[in-house]
Amino acid sequence: MSSKLIIALDFPSAEQALAFIEPLSPAICKLKVGFELYVSAGSDFVHSLVERGFDVFLDLKFHDIPNTVASACRAAARLGVWMINVHASGGEKMMRAAREALGDFENPPKLIAVTVLTSMDQSQLQGIGLDLPPQEQVIRLAKLAKHSGLDGVVCSAQEAKMLRKALGDDFLLVTPGIRPSGADIGDQSRVMTPETALKSGVNYMVVGRPITQSKKPQTIIKMINTISN
Ligand code: C5P
Repeated sequence: MSSKLIIALDFPSAEQALAFIEPLSPAICKLKVGFELYVSAGSDFVHSLVERGFDVFLDLKFHDIPNTVASACRAAARLGVWMINVHASGGEKMMRAAREALGDFENPPKLIAVTVLTSMDQSQLQGIGLDLPPQEQVIRLAKLAKHSGLDGVVCSAQEAKMLRKALGDDFLLVTPGIRPSGADIGDQSRVMTPETALKSGVNYMVVGRPITQSKKPQTIIKMINTISN
């Protein structure tokens, strides 16, 4: 069974990331490459992870005019990654352009959207002219993402139940802020255990530091996989 665990490779260099994944296999986890590693290690590095057999989530949150986002999605798909994302606030035209760009690929990456960044509270939203509670904006953008043909959204585990109900079973919910009980919360504010996240309808859990900074990463990976299967 394919793992529901996506490990966030938040490392400053390819060397450090490679040292970490050396003992790991594609059967036990997927990998997420974000801005830091992508900017320092580049697309060849991402492709090398794909060649090792890993499902790679390229977390670059594209947000630009439709044509530019479509081209970026095509370039990401050529790397053979498993999942990519865009900002839903780029609008329906942008998301549809991204979807259509992937239509040319036999095995296109899953295309998901970021709704509202978890760092945005109500006052931050007000500052950019959105006078509504974050949850309302999350639902609105998640519905727009589905309507635009996307495969799912990134969401906090707290939002998962509400989104599952509003969007149905056939929509991916990918969730960071996961902390096995007893793990250090770090700078995440609203966290959830893997057990509760899965019960809330989450499809894939993104876990970074509790695994990457653990002395026994394999133990935590095994524990999460056991709960998930
Ligand atoms: O180390 P930790 O488990 O907190 O890492 C979570 C990962 O998920 C990081 O790569 C972070 O950038 C990402 N993320 C997040 N919250 C979001 C979106 C992405 O923590 N709302």
